[in-house]
Amino acid sequence: MLQLPEGMKPLSIKIADCIRQKCPRAEIYIHGDPSYGACDLSYPELEYYLSPDLIIHIGHTPYPPELASKKSSPQGKTRVVYIPAESRLDVDENLLEDLLRFIEKYDSGNIGVVGTLQHYRLIPKIVNRLRRRGYNASTSPARPPYFVEGQVLGCEYGSALMLKSDLYVYVGGGLFHPLGLYLATMKPVIKLDPYHQKVEDLTPYGEKTYKKRMYKIMQAMNAKHWGLVLGLKTGQYRPWLEKQLSSLLISKGVKYDVFLFEKLTIEALRSLPQEIDAYVVTSCPRLPIDDLADFEKPVLTPGEAVMVLTGKLERYRFPW
Ligand code: SF4
Repeated sequence: MLQLPEGMKPLSIKIADCIRQKCPRAEIYIHGDPSYGACDLSYPELEYYLSPDLIIHIGHTPYPPELASKKSSPQGKTRVVYIPAESRLDVDENLLEDLLRFIEKYDSGNIGVVGTLQHYRLIPKIVNRLRRRGYNASTSPARPPYFVEGQVLGCEYGSALMLKSDLYVYVGGGLFHPLGLYLATMKPVIKLDPYHQKVEDLTPYGEKTYKKRMYKIMQAMNAKHWGLVLGLKTGQYRPWLEKQLSSLLISKGVKYDVFLFEKLTIEALRSLPQEIDAYVVTSCPRLPIDDLADFEKPVLTPGEAVMVLTGKLERYRFPW
């Protein structure tokens, strides 16, 4: 069973042919569903229906087991091999000079450099360049097999938080990870994008998103009936969160119902009973921010729901 992220799916046949050359007896299946992370292996279904000898999961490191349930971690006869897909892109001196110009706008001594799996080999070069300019720059150590040096996930920024930096340099593309980095640290985030060979200050975007999230939090303050959403994807079933949130909901004396979803969408939420005033999503904490922010009622991450239910609004909690 071959699993690839969406951007690499066009290569799936080439990879399958390559495996066939080496292992002529291999029967290869290509997983067509999106695979957004190592949390998204579809392991129980694959084990049940196909029971393949091997899942080759490309592009992610294994999902940290402490964030999910033991039951939902891959455990069965099917082995999973995680293959990192590393980018060969480099960053040149001009781009690093640009980065330094962006950093100079902030009065930051301690700088943390983090990124996604694809670009982690660039991190030491960037750290060294910042040190040569006099900054106290660092990155986090690897935590094998779950994290390489400086690696962050959309729902896990421990690698950044342990650095206690005043500013973060994020190495990678897109907005997904650097936005999470801002929300988890509430510190300036400068993105160095090897794909577009561009430096961008994402702090204003982070601040704007934070304000929107605080609005959602305020909307949920008077909710009398909550929907607690549990996830059914391999690494997105989190009983520890269900327990924590249900205790808080009970202690607050509000009614709640539990909903189970493998794939949660705005349309799916619209079909649920109108009595629900607010939702909290325990599966992927990015859904409320990236996919469900336009829903008419507040849909919160676990950390945001804890803020509402404990009344502690001073410090923004993300993601849990
Ligand atoms: S952010 Fe969501 S999709 Fe990404 S690893 Fe975490 S739970 Fe999975």
